Amino acid sequence: MTTTYNWSRNLAYGSSAVLRPRSTDELAEIITSNPRVRALGSKHSFNRVADTDGVHVQVDAIDSTVEVDTAAMTASVNGGLRYGEVSQALQASGVALGAMASLPHISVAGAVATATHGSGDATRNLAAAVRGLEIVTGDGTVRTLTRGDADFAGAVVGLGALGVVTRVVLDVVPTYDVRQDVYLGLGWDTVRERFDEITSSATSVSLFTSWGPDGVDQVWRKTAVPAGSAATEFPRSYLDAPAATEAMHPLPGVDATACTGQLGVPGPWNERLPHFRLDFTPSNGEELQTEYLVPRRHAVAAIDAVRALAPQVQPLLQITEIRTIAADDLWMSSTSGEDGHEGFIGIHFTWKKLQPEVEALLPTIEAALAPCGARPHWGKLFDDSPSALGRVAAAYPRFGDFAALAERYDPEQRFRGGFVADLLGG
Ligand SMILES: Cc1cc2nc3c(=O)[nH]c(=O)nc-3n(C[C@H](O)[C@H](O)[C@H](O)COP(=O)(O)OP(=O)(O)OC[C@H]3O[C@@H](n4cnc5c(N)ncnc54)[C@H](O)[C@@H]3O)c2cc1C
Repeated sequence: MTTTYNWSRNLAYGSSAVLRPRSTDELAEIITSNPRVRALGSKHSFNRVADTDGVHVQVDAIDSTVEVDTAAMTASVNGGLRYGEVSQALQASGVALGAMASLPHISVAGAVATATHGSGDATRNLAAAVRGLEIVTGDGTVRTLTRGDADFAGAVVGLGALGVVTRVVLDVVPTYDVRQDVYLGLGWDTVRERFDEITSSATSVSLFTSWGPDGVDQVWRKTAVPAGSAATEFPRSYLDAPAATEAMHPLPGVDATACTGQLGVPGPWNERLPHFRLDFTPSNGEELQTEYLVPRRHAVAAIDAVRALAPQVQPLLQITEIRTIAADDLWMSSTSGEDGHEGFIGIHFTWKKLQPEVEALLPTIEAALAPCGARPHWGKLFDDSPSALGRVAAAYPRFGDFAALAERYDPEQRFRGGFVADLLGG
């Protein structure tokens, strides 16, 4: 038995094998002949969301085509493909996605299953772009779900609990370019008083901070422009922050070679929306991550709550990123709004690789953010003890319906594993 590790290597999965079926029939055979099975994407999650004590399956060897339909403005893709590969194929066909995460290295199905997101007041998470799914369920049946079907909103952010997604149909838009400008240093008073103005000042805004007294260290502003736009002069300052005069990495002191193009030079959407380039290690590599999603009416209160914890957070931290995400209506999405309209902010922590210390601090952060209605990112470290999972489930109004859907799609509970087994029981 070979041990399989996640990307960060902070977790050894409990599976006995990672299987790569070459057809849907072969996948169905694996599912029905194993008591415990779990889909595995590109292994970029930091917690036990993808874990199993059975076998893992990866779907990237099943029909790895990207089929673009420019009349319907959709792309049908193999769920195991990475966004980096999919986005190159889309760009070659003249179409684009509306959002990407900070890295293009993650698989489509894995990112969608955990409600992975990018940033932007009007930008919904990656799962919200899903128009259809093909999923192989617990008895080997292939189900095709389309937006509007009764089970659809429950199945998209599925946490791997409903079955193995083989194909995903994504909404696409005409291609566009993005320019990326970075500004250095924005005081806390400005951030607190002008938060909405700042996050709406570009298509996608990220605030990077070490929670020091002076405020945020970097403001990344990505602005969508028509495809083929020429580089133009960009403002030398934004509010009280001067423009960076050289390319920056979000992590203090790290060389920016791994980052996508900055300094206002427009480039294709897929080479600007992610912070990191496909052919380089994203972020640091030697790290852990945590993120909480908070309804944006609590944005300033949540920022204040974490600032008050700075003495405990800073010794373990590499960098925090604050982003905004528009709401969606997917049952288990951490950015789903009860009325489907309120947006969210994400408060993300890239930690040093000190797992016991980080895990000891997380309940304190979660208690501080609880009054703000914070939900943890499904793919990053959070307190996943049974009592904490009960609180997480209670933050999702449709959790009961999701549990019933999991029972219906997987009555023999083959797909239960990791903390998802604890969440759903089984
Ligand atoms: C450096 C770095 C940067 C990151 N940046 C961001 C970011 O900007 N925004 C953000 O929101 N997150 C971010 N993440 C988190 C990451 O996007 C999520 O953890 C995501 O789930 C990773 O996708 P994956 O393919 O690696 O999934 P995995 O970790 O392999 O699996 C995650 C879940 O998806 C399920 N799954 C995988 N494939 C399938 C399938 N075919 N069918 C059904 N279920 C499936 C698994 O069972 C599991 O439950 C980052 C992670 C790293 C390491």
